[in-house]
Amino acid sequence: MSAAAAARSILTQLHEVMASRLHPQGKLDRVVEIIGENLHSEVCSIYLLREGMLELFATRGLEQSAVHVTRLAVGEGLNGVIADRIETLNLAEAAAHPDFAYRPETGEERFHSFAGVPIVYRERAVGTLCVQHSDPRRYEDVEIEALQTVAMVLSELIAHNGLVDEETGALGEALSGPQMVTGLSLVKGIASGVAVFHQPRIQIDQVVADDIEVERQRVYLAFDKMRDQIEAMASQAEFGTGGEHDEVLQTYKMFAYDEGWSRRINEAIDSGLTAEAAIERVQQRTRMRMREIDDPLLADRMHDLEDLSNRLLRIVSGQLGTAATQGLRRDTILIARNLGPAELLEYDRRRLKGVILEEGSLTAHVVIVARAMGIPVLGRARGIRGIVRDGDEVLLDADKSIVHVRPAQQTLDLFVDRFARTRERQAAYAELRDVEPFTRDGTRIQVMMNAGLRDDIASLPLVGADGVGLFRTEFQFLVSATMPQRERQTRLYRDVLEAAGDKPVVFRTVDIGGDKAVSYIHSEEAENEENPAMGWRALRLALEREGLLKAQARALLEAASGRTLYVMFPMVSEPWEFDAAKAVFDGQLAFLKKRKKILPEAIHYGAMLEVPALAEVLDALLPRISFLSIGTNDLTQFLFAADRANPKLAERYDWVSPAILRFLRRVVLAVEGSGVDLRVCGEMGGRRLEALALLGLGFRKLSITPAAIGPIKELVRKVELAEIGTAMTGWLHSPPPDMRAALQQWADERGIETD
Ligand code: PEP
Ligand code: MG
Repeated sequence: MSAAAAARSILTQLHEVMASRLHPQGKLDRVVEIIGENLHSEVCSIYLLREGMLELFATRGLEQSAVHVTRLAVGEGLNGVIADRIETLNLAEAAAHPDFAYRPETGEERFHSFAGVPIVYRERAVGTLCVQHSDPRRYEDVEIEALQTVAMVLSELIAHNGLVDEETGALGEALSGPQMVTGLSLVKGIASGVAVFHQPRIQIDQVVADDIEVERQRVYLAFDKMRDQIEAMASQAEFGTGGEHDEVLQTYKMFAYDEGWSRRINEAIDSGLTAEAAIERVQQRTRMRMREIDDPLLADRMHDLEDLSNRLLRIVSGQLGTAATQGLRRDTILIARNLGPAELLEYDRRRLKGVILEEGSLTAHVVIVARAMGIPVLGRARGIRGIVRDGDEVLLDADKSIVHVRPAQQTLDLFVDRFARTRERQAAYAELRDVEPFTRDGTRIQVMMNAGLRDDIASLPLVGADGVGLFRTEFQFLVSATMPQRERQTRLYRDVLEAAGDKPVVFRTVDIGGDKAVSYIHSEEAENEENPAMGWRALRLALEREGLLKAQARALLEAASGRTLYVMFPMVSEPWEFDAAKAVFDGQLAFLKKRKKILPEAIHYGAMLEVPALAEVLDALLPRISFLSIGTNDLTQFLFAADRANPKLAERYDWVSPAILRFLRRVVLAVEGSGVDLRVCGEMGGRRLEALALLGLGFRKLSITPAAIGPIKELVRKVELAEIGTAMTGWLHSPPPDMRAALQQWADERGIETD
């Protein structure tokens, strides 16, 4: 008999048992009889997990008195091994296996051969199904296949009849007790909430098919639809989708057209399963095989297949949409393999407290957006999707790069303390909202915020910033699947200006390209850049793609009609680049003037100082600009020749170091007296110790991440500028061995909090 026929014959009978009015134990008793008979096996037993132990729940062939008496720890005996490793055993001589544990009460000594499979529910082993025979023979593949299929059906039967021990879960500690996973902190912060999978797991309601032909047709159509989706994703590359990169898409394609995969699903349908159950069955089998192969590359590809399999399941079951479409009901920590920026933006910001990604990197667009949203993100949390379950409690500590899954009470208590401290601080900062930040000696420091999302502006009054010192216009480009049309740009800029009222907003023209690539702007040469941060990006790209800059210039000029407009160009490396960019604006201005449009009341142009070379030609640049903003993120990566996106270098060089501080001091001196406004808009200004250093260097204007406004205002009020200025001059003249430590000590001695 073929595997399919054997399984089908069993399934038909099981179907009747499942539909019958027997109580759960009665059903299990019938099940072991049916399987034993069909496989001509003297013994068939079912062990289920109860209170962390595998308990014999039903048997044909072993002593009935052993039922609910024989218990094995997970990992103990053959059944324990099957459950522990979620693997199949097929042995001609059971007693010869090193893990064989003899249980006299079962009377199993008469039987030699043994085959067992795990019963898996939601990726966890909840029990085992095994057959035994007195002849010492290995079971045939068809029999094993049939057992596996039956085990799958059983898992549903068991779950629906409340036989799954939810308390202890399945596999020992792995999925029940507290777990800690480490990762890479992508956006700092702490958060708590329940785990929600971005791609919700599919509930399979029916496993046994009523009509095999109907199921076959459903899978066929689902495959078609899935292939269309993959093609569409590939054609729009990274954006508007899940942030999948090319390599993943290629693998998706390979699997989507893989004959073997669809054939195996069809075979599973032949054995009597529904389309959903067949897809899951094949996936389970693949998972089991993969456990035996220890190859990280292959494991990655299996991840891809797993994702695709879930996609197919979602299509076939009609359970489409992400967790965002279903809506968040509680404070949520979102779990995903990867995420696109647009997908992140679909979530309700009030409920979304944190994000944990299995992949992710510091420069991923989604991370830039999450930072702007103030949502902590932990990336590279390997295996998180296998450890956490939907609805589990999760404490995310992106400050320490860890996540606690199902935390113990002690951990919870510690977190409660930390939250309380954070809240206290935030309350103190909130009180500073309407307080103007003056230093102790009465100098007004301008504290502006960095923004980029439409929603950011709403927080402008809340955080009490002096305006927006850096509006990253590229965010709109990053979250969009196609080039944002000029009208859309105008609308955004106008809304931003409206919301900001009389506070200034500095619009930075698009800083895309290089590592912030968008799919709809292509360049052959740029595609394979080895050093994208130093490549075809920002103004370099914008000047070459003049249409892009023209459209943005017009959008900004129109949006600011009747108001003051601040325009800033990123990555200016030589003064002529500034001139060229400004000329584009002048051209658009002339056009609008000719059309008798209402023009901005005033326009101020500025440049970002991110490329060290520009500092050497400030004398030429300063007369042309009205403000200069130092982008310390890029500037320091270029000064130290240290990729800002490389986690290995993230902690290696310090902003508070003689090289950086001396450089910045020279810029302060060069700008002094020129009438040009000078400010810092990189992350450096948002950290207290660094901000203290900047004040000491002579900076009076900072633009920082919104969450830092309160802490920096508080710092400003404690500083005596002359004092820190003198100390800084001394340190720059003869740097102490550890500049940070010296500054820290200085702050500590004056009771200035800096962490
Ligand atoms: C910078 O480089 O410091 C900066 C503010 O710009 P971005 O982080 O967007 O590159
Ligand atoms: Mg920059």
